[in-house]
Amino acid sequence: MLLAQRVNRIKPSPSTAAAQRVRELKAQGHEILDLTVGEPDFDTPDHVKAAAVEAIGRGETKYTPVNGIQELRAAIADRLARRHGIRYTPEQITVSGGAKQVIFLALMATLDAPGEVIIPAPYWVSYPDMVLANDGTPVIVDCPSFTLTPDRLAAVITADTRWLILNTPSNPTGAAYTAGELRALADVLLAHPQVWVLTDEIYDEIAYERLSTLLSVEPRLADRVLVTNGVSKTYAMTGWRIGYGAGPAELVAAINTLQSQISSCPSSVSQAAAVAALTGDQEFVRETVAVYQARRDRTVKLLGDIPGLSCTAPSGGFYLFVNCKALLGRRTPASQVIHTDEDLTHYFLESQQVAVIHGTAYGTPGYFRVSFATSTDILDESCQRIGRACADLS
Ligand code: PLP
Repeated sequence: MLLAQRVNRIKPSPSTAAAQRVRELKAQGHEILDLTVGEPDFDTPDHVKAAAVEAIGRGETKYTPVNGIQELRAAIADRLARRHGIRYTPEQITVSGGAKQVIFLALMATLDAPGEVIIPAPYWVSYPDMVLANDGTPVIVDCPSFTLTPDRLAAVITADTRWLILNTPSNPTGAAYTAGELRALADVLLAHPQVWVLTDEIYDEIAYERLSTLLSVEPRLADRVLVTNGVSKTYAMTGWRIGYGAGPAELVAAINTLQSQISSCPSSVSQAAAVAALTGDQEFVRETVAVYQARRDRTVKLLGDIPGLSCTAPSGGFYLFVNCKALLGRRTPASQVIHTDEDLTHYFLESQQVAVIHGTAYGTPGYFRVSFATSTDILDESCQRIGRACADLS
């Protein structure tokens, strides 16, 4: 079969591949401790589920407006106003089948070759492939401190730069940009009006400190910023597939035109659920963030105590990005040399049945990602086993 070039340019997401490997091993009867998961281990709150059932009862089971129901866009506008200090009009907001779809459609709506997209590394695995699928050129910028600095940004901007993608807090590091860091990036961006900014804020409410936003620091950028977010992570609603984007009306209209030809609209029932999530009681968010924070502190300590590993406590999200450079070059008990982070994660899986994702998948060799969206029992046991595996290296 002759596939389109765009398919040959991209690969399946490494996290999906890791999840697949875990499923295979489980099917073979192995008990795997899975720290690869990119979704909350909590159930969707009851009042959100009830809102979906009520919507079905009312017959809200038909196509909705392409960009989502008015009530949901109003709820999103309120949320964004509180967070960014900007009041978006309903035409500046679109709802889609997850934040992932909004990001993909935004790139599809704006990129032609060679359209360059600046992606700070470590990055969420999907960004480079989404850019490639839409005929653009990913420009990966290594960020040893996990956040993009103004001089690194300035060094890679060209006349062909179309977008900078900022993910704060980040998957996989949990690092969030401070107001000062955002101010410094904004100063560079103000000097380059051809560069648009996609701020992916999907983890913004799973935060362990007060976080800032680019638009609250520099509202003058609002005419070239697309904010993307959704209900997946905050409200444990990954399967409902509701995400949103807010930005200049012309860009949002282009996204809507594409969406009208791709999926017509997001799921009507899921939209009703998302209204309940955004406008209802927020106790679920407070409770789950407290649980994540306790797990974060515990796991940072347990992993930090293992000779050869180090990690810092993330500002948000539910991932740790663990530095394992000190272990590269060592030998396993079977006398295999651990050359790379991928060798190490493979060794953890095969020798101790603990699944994590290698840092190279996120553009940053010498690290691995641990998700703490799982129980403390599993985290404790996994850390013990990772410790054993590391101690067995010579
Ligand atoms: N952006 C980042 C950084 C993510 O980690 C994810 C999900 O893993 C998404 C976007 C996509 O979220 P959604 O479920 O809304 O498509």
